[in-house]
Amino acid sequence: MLHVYSDTASEGHLNRCAPVERPERFPAALAGIEEAGRAGVPVAWRACRPAPEDAVRAVHSPSYLKCLEGASGAASGYLSADTDLGPGSWEATSLASGAAMGAVESALSGTAAFAVSRPPGHHAGRGYGMGFCLLNHAAVAAGHARSLGLRRVAILDWDVHHGNGTQDVFYRDEGVLYLSAHQSPLYPGTGGTREVGDGPGRGFTVNAPLPAGSGEEAYVAAFSGLFLPVLREFRPELLIVSAGYDAHAADPLGGMRLVTGSFGRFAAELAALTRELGTSPPALVLEGGYDLEALSASVAATAEGLGQEPPRWSYHGDVKPVEVARETLAPFWKSLR
Ligand SMILES: [Zn+2]
Repeated sequence: MLHVYSDTASEGHLNRCAPVERPERFPAALAGIEEAGRAGVPVAWRACRPAPEDAVRAVHSPSYLKCLEGASGAASGYLSADTDLGPGSWEATSLASGAAMGAVESALSGTAAFAVSRPPGHHAGRGYGMGFCLLNHAAVAAGHARSLGLRRVAILDWDVHHGNGTQDVFYRDEGVLYLSAHQSPLYPGTGGTREVGDGPGRGFTVNAPLPAGSGEEAYVAAFSGLFLPVLREFRPELLIVSAGYDAHAADPLGGMRLVTGSFGRFAAELAALTRELGTSPPALVLEGGYDLEALSASVAATAEGLGQEPPRWSYHGDVKPVEVARETLAPFWKSLR
């Protein structure tokens, strides 16, 4: 069973600075869920509510929220060169955060869930929006899980871009493990292997910056050589996935070579890991993905993958940035030594 959280408000946000992050992404992603349903995945559609103020304030600063709501109410406003907002933007983004919170609740009650919405969230930090992102839905979702009493939450981000906002929000926090595989160099320029967290959060940020042109083998190395061992050692009570689809070979923004089936294999591997750890199934949150056809097909593959046998990867140690990340993080994780 897969719970899907979505709201048509996702189509009401218009970012005139970035025509690729267009309203049509929403029905395209939903079509992927429908395709998975036709392929036999039992789907239950769930309504969502806007994220309540306290949940959003746990992640974002009051001054930033005031600016966001004000700009949306004024019917226009630029947060950065690629991110603007209008009258439907606040509703869309607060419902998207609410969808992610709903997905967390489903996961914690034992059902895998997917929050399908836009705009994406992982570039939004405590006091800023950028990279098409206004509120950080995965971060709001993680904060929600912790407000329910969870002590260890992991966020795995496979969007082609590094989730600088999510990393920033939890950089000094040992309760939220952030893991990202992303293209490097690429926007937003963060996500180097040396960025491992700060203060009590040291070791709880895990970056795998992969070169342009990387295909599934490089991601398999990041998963099997870095993410899975660290996740097994951290033992998250909840795994949130920042599921972006712009590392697909067809994507106009990314330069990676993943294929549709890659996302299904990632989902299968992560769902199997949560079963192995005896913890809640994954809660997925849609991030990027700008080729509509690839987006639909990859969302479908992800939804189907959650119920499939994992691929049983093994690590061969032949991807340099993964080796560097393992070495850098070894002081914090026995499993990498
Ligand atoms: Zn992206």
